[in-house]
Amino acid sequence: MSENKDQKFVYDFTEGNKDLKDLLGGKGANLAEMTNLGLPVPPGFTITTEACKVYLDSGDEPPALRDEVSAHLDALERSMGKKLGQADDPLLVSVRSGAKFSMPGMMDTVLNIGLSDESVTGLAAQAGDERFAWDSYRRLIQMFGKTVLGVDGELFEDALDEAKAAKKVAVDTDLDAADLKKLVARFKEIVTAEAGRDFPQDPREQMDLAIHAVFDSWNTDRAKLYRRQERIPGDLGTAVNVCSMVFGNLGPDSGTGVAFTRDPASGHQGVYGDYLQNAQGEDVVAGIRNTVPLADLESIDKASYDQLMQIMETLENHYRDLCDIEFTIERGQLWMLQTRVGKRTAGAAFRIATQLVDQGLIDEAEALQRVNGAQLAQLMFPRFDDGATTELLGRGIAASPGAAVGKAVFDSYTAVKWSRSGEKVILIRRETNPDDLDGMIAAEGILTSRGGKTSHAAVVARGMGKTCVCGAEDLEVDTKRRRMTVGGTVVEEGDVVSIDGSTGKVYLGEVPVVPSPVVEYFEGRMHAGADDADELVQAVHRIMAYADRVRRLRVRANADNAEDALRARRFGAQGIGLCRTEHMFLGERREMVEKLILADTDEEREEALKALLPLQKKDFVELFEAMDGLPVTVRLLDPPLHEFLPDITELSVRVALAEARKDANENDLRLLQAVHRLHEQNPMLGLRGVRLGLVIPGLFGMQVRAIAEAAAERVEAKGDPRAEIMIPLVGTVQELEIVRDESEAVIAEVARKTGVDLKLALGTMIELPRAALTAGQIAEAAEFFSFGTNDLTQTVWGFSRDDVEASFFTAYLEKGIFGVSPFETIDKDGVGALVRDAAAAGRATRPDLKLGVCGEHGGDPESVHFFHEVGLDYVSCSPFRIPVARLEAGRAAAQSAGSDSR
Ligand code: PEP
Ligand code: MG
Repeated sequence: MSENKDQKFVYDFTEGNKDLKDLLGGKGANLAEMTNLGLPVPPGFTITTEACKVYLDSGDEPPALRDEVSAHLDALERSMGKKLGQADDPLLVSVRSGAKFSMPGMMDTVLNIGLSDESVTGLAAQAGDERFAWDSYRRLIQMFGKTVLGVDGELFEDALDEAKAAKKVAVDTDLDAADLKKLVARFKEIVTAEAGRDFPQDPREQMDLAIHAVFDSWNTDRAKLYRRQERIPGDLGTAVNVCSMVFGNLGPDSGTGVAFTRDPASGHQGVYGDYLQNAQGEDVVAGIRNTVPLADLESIDKASYDQLMQIMETLENHYRDLCDIEFTIERGQLWMLQTRVGKRTAGAAFRIATQLVDQGLIDEAEALQRVNGAQLAQLMFPRFDDGATTELLGRGIAASPGAAVGKAVFDSYTAVKWSRSGEKVILIRRETNPDDLDGMIAAEGILTSRGGKTSHAAVVARGMGKTCVCGAEDLEVDTKRRRMTVGGTVVEEGDVVSIDGSTGKVYLGEVPVVPSPVVEYFEGRMHAGADDADELVQAVHRIMAYADRVRRLRVRANADNAEDALRARRFGAQGIGLCRTEHMFLGERREMVEKLILADTDEEREEALKALLPLQKKDFVELFEAMDGLPVTVRLLDPPLHEFLPDITELSVRVALAEARKDANENDLRLLQAVHRLHEQNPMLGLRGVRLGLVIPGLFGMQVRAIAEAAAERVEAKGDPRAEIMIPLVGTVQELEIVRDESEAVIAEVARKTGVDLKLALGTMIELPRAALTAGQIAEAAEFFSFGTNDLTQTVWGFSRDDVEASFFTAYLEKGIFGVSPFETIDKDGVGALVRDAAAAGRATRPDLKLGVCGEHGGDPESVHFFHEVGLDYVSCSPFRIPVARLEAGRAAAQSAGSDSR
């Protein structure tokens, strides 16, 4: 870290502002903003994140810091009219952490700095309350001992319990001044014994040590883990806020509370929050006494209440958003301790954004930035009926959204067995591991009592789009006895449970599920203008309309049949970016594929292809009709052929048994030979994609003919088919050229025969590193590229997706090797760099080259922004994700427009 000579490391609250979060942290920046708005903030100053970075890099604070802190402390003392720790009337301060991004509870805070054996009596005299002074002192020694001097916190808790036991009382408020005085002596002994030094009596030393402790707390294990999980960079450092103390525990005319400027659940304006009389913030957290609704403050202290309402209005108009607030009332004087733009539910985010537009506080472009695709996705899951009354069993981490109901099962085997017989099941485990995979696939939802957001259960469930609640610690799962207990309730195997992956709630019995109104709207079953359209649907409609107006990226769907295509169209798809034809070879048609594979002669092969042709054609006619007027990219067959053959073990057993009975079936024997012949060690890298088209004569030709004939038929029916033919897994331009020549000949022949002028674009997927690296050459033979980022991620990383996600991805996520699976969000530096370069190289060869992406990333919010930046023309994703892609494409366009004009 290079230190600039004129660098300023300390800012008075009057010097900062809300835009300086990088430097002052979120808390410091907002305290400064409130100070400058003239709101009652206890005076103080902020030490910058830059000072923290120097400290963490060099092991020592920057040399200039001490003098700067002294100057700011002097000013603070002057404005408060008393000195830090002054014996007869001490100024006390809090030393609080505050990083750019909120890391709740992860870093340290020390309150009541400035108290000592001497000044505690001064505080008692000033406050007219001896008990209060000694209680404040014992809290300081406890907090300081633990966070600054590293003493085990349990020792203080034990001593406190002993003091209560000696007096035969249950709560610490029943300890009087004399008891607390003794406790302070005991606490000091603990410090001396454990820390090898006395509790510092010099107030400045207390403050300096506390500042260092806050710096150090940036790098505790739990803070590091939290940052990895939340994808907060590790090198930001924390700011430190030194703020004069105000006390909410000075009697009934004092108290502390939290407030929201509107309801973070619904977005409605009103009085939301809690208040606790005669208490400090930590008492609220400890939950010893019950808070009262904020509205009750009006009757407790009307003047403070009115002032608070006024301040809340000021803050909301100023931040132009929902704010949350922490405040304290000290003997009738209201103090603001913190504010920030508050967290909210997904539904509230949309409602608040449009409410603020209507209030004239923000414009539509800003409203679009106030919501995101993850929130929209949450609103699209079916949810439990709010009105239903069902017993709440417990609560865990909302790991993968959705509402799932089923019978409780406690092992994977039963999950699979029961689901095969048509039962819906919820798989309940302490935690899951790769052996549970079958059961997880079979279950409606997954519930675990251990593990967090990156546990195996959570990661795998999210990957599968399956509802999951994990880490519900109140549940005692006993897999041996196939039951779980919660409090007094026992849930046996077969009992119905309901889990809500959006809230983490677990219910006993069946909670009725209602479809999401937002999906009803996208499906066209509810209109935003209709009388029964709720405020949420209207808000979503308005924001989507704006996103559609401003976005540059088009959004297509991955869909293989007319039904999915029609849904995609209702959801706003502007075409099909990927029709996987392999699904058209399954079911009854599998036998025809077998015949094709087993064909010994050209005639047999041609016959098999001939039988498939009309069926393929019918599929395409339906698809082109559903997407009339919009582009439909049909990908020729991609997967290895053995996927269409029976399982090697099953077939071997069948043949062996038949041979033993001496009635071996000729067809089975030939099939077994073929299975052996086609068996591959690494099918993902074997005979698939364009390679199939090159070694199985007539296969791709048949598919192209089906596409061309279907298109011709649609033209004859006065339709407007826009078919595009896409070749998968190309690694070199030569492969493409051969298939291209063959395809063009087939298309020309169909055009001649039908008399329809067919214009079918021919392009390729870019899903192998070599294709990306030679994109300039490949573009000579391709009219479009569609990036297959699923395979590209597999081949760039050398990951076999089906194997690695369930085995070691959890470990990788926990170790922070990546914050999110590269199959979920595009790996910009690796896979993304290839996409960017290949797009540029392709366009250099063919300036009108159309560029799209059809891997899963096409529907992932962060990836959509990346594809916008690198200049693709469209993203293609599963029908359900289309609204998310539309919204994020709009946000990406609005963001880059914003940064261009800045
Ligand atoms: C891809 O590889 O990104 C792709 C879309 O193809 P598939 O997932 O079918 O292999
Ligand atoms: Mg692929």
